[in-house]
Amino acid sequence: MIAEIVTIGTELLLGEIVDTNSAHIAQQLTAIGVDHYYSTTVGDNLERIVSALHNALARSDVVITTGGLGPTVGDMTREAVARVAGRELVLQPVLLEQIEAFFRLRGSVMSSNNRRQAYVPDGAVVIENPVGTAPAFALELGQKAIVSLPGVPHEMVYLLREAVLPYLSRRMGEAAVILVRQVHTVCIGESMVDHEITDLMQNRNPSVGTRAHPGQTDVCIAAKAATREEASALLDEMETRVRGRLGTVVYGVDGETLAGVVVAGLKGRGCRLAVAEAETRGLAARRLLEADPDRLVLAGALTAMDSMALAQETGVSPEGTGKERARAIAESVRTRYGAQMGLAILEGGEDPALVHVALVGPEVDEVKSWSSRGQSETGLLWTVHCALDTVRLWLLSHAMAV
Ligand code: ATP
Ligand code: MG
Repeated sequence: MIAEIVTIGTELLLGEIVDTNSAHIAQQLTAIGVDHYYSTTVGDNLERIVSALHNALARSDVVITTGGLGPTVGDMTREAVARVAGRELVLQPVLLEQIEAFFRLRGSVMSSNNRRQAYVPDGAVVIENPVGTAPAFALELGQKAIVSLPGVPHEMVYLLREAVLPYLSRRMGEAAVILVRQVHTVCIGESMVDHEITDLMQNRNPSVGTRAHPGQTDVCIAAKAATREEASALLDEMETRVRGRLGTVVYGVDGETLAGVVVAGLKGRGCRLAVAEAETRGLAARRLLEADPDRLVLAGALTAMDSMALAQETGVSPEGTGKERARAIAESVRTRYGAQMGLAILEGGEDPALVHVALVGPEVDEVKSWSSRGQSETGLLWTVHCALDTVRLWLLSHAMAV
């Protein structure tokens, strides 16, 4: 089954409110295995709503609309659905009673406008709305259907859960689930990942796509099957293929974080780490702390505005190259906090275009330099990810050597 979402409301187009309804409905459709290829947002304009519904009906089995079911003339979803279906709007006395009762219960009088809400396209099945006044409805048109829900998020969420999802499941006949898994890679650009798995990205089930974040590209695998077990097996198989292509740039899946993997690796070796960083706003230490709130691994951290200040703070000579300075600072901070390993990250330095990262300890002495991606949040995240990855890769190669 292919479903399509049409959210209705000029305020959505103007960016005055964010379309959270689409996101929620999309997540719920995915969870019950309904395919979803298009979402449209359209303003409170009858012609354009009709046109959006026509397009949606032409390419999807079920169209779910939200918004425009209120009592004002600006609320035109009913009219638009009736027009698309070639049906009249008919009064539903039951609805009228419910709306009157809603107002009575709250001690207020129903305005004549609210009568509008008791009309639905001829043949539509009314979906009762006990949490608001805007009644929803579903209209079946041969093999297709339009389901219209109110725009108010908590009403929409309630009706979707209580009525619409069960309705869609029944219509689909067999149950299906879609499971999604994110495979995280670090320090490799999206285009490189894309290049390695281009053929896998043509696969239909599971589908494979990429998502870029600063310093991290995720490979998103989505599998559809009759049961969770089958979907999960499809994911496992594709994850193995993706890992086979990408190798050690893969650091984890789903909720795993790079800092979490680094902390777990260090903990596994009984190893504590001290960090010194310049120009990265303490981001590396912050990430490690988030993954290690009890500070079992992070022995201590120093942060400074620039590498000169960091050198001064750690008693390191400002002479020498950036690499030499990074190594000396890593050694100094390691001693200072009594850690087995020291990590220094110098963004900037004598050549502001370079980042220097040093990882030192009894078993390790590594210094790397690479081109900086600048001082923006994105640039710094790249630096910090690649610096933390230096630790992860060392742990990985060491574990393999044992
Ligand atoms: P009402 O009877 O309250 O008028 P309605 O079905 O006519 O309901 P709208 O008037 O379109 O719905 O929207 C009501 C409110 O719901 C909006 O002011 C907005 O705050 C919220 N809303 C509408 N559509 C969305 C959406 N797609 N995402 C998030 N919030 C929305
Ligand atoms: Mg309204």
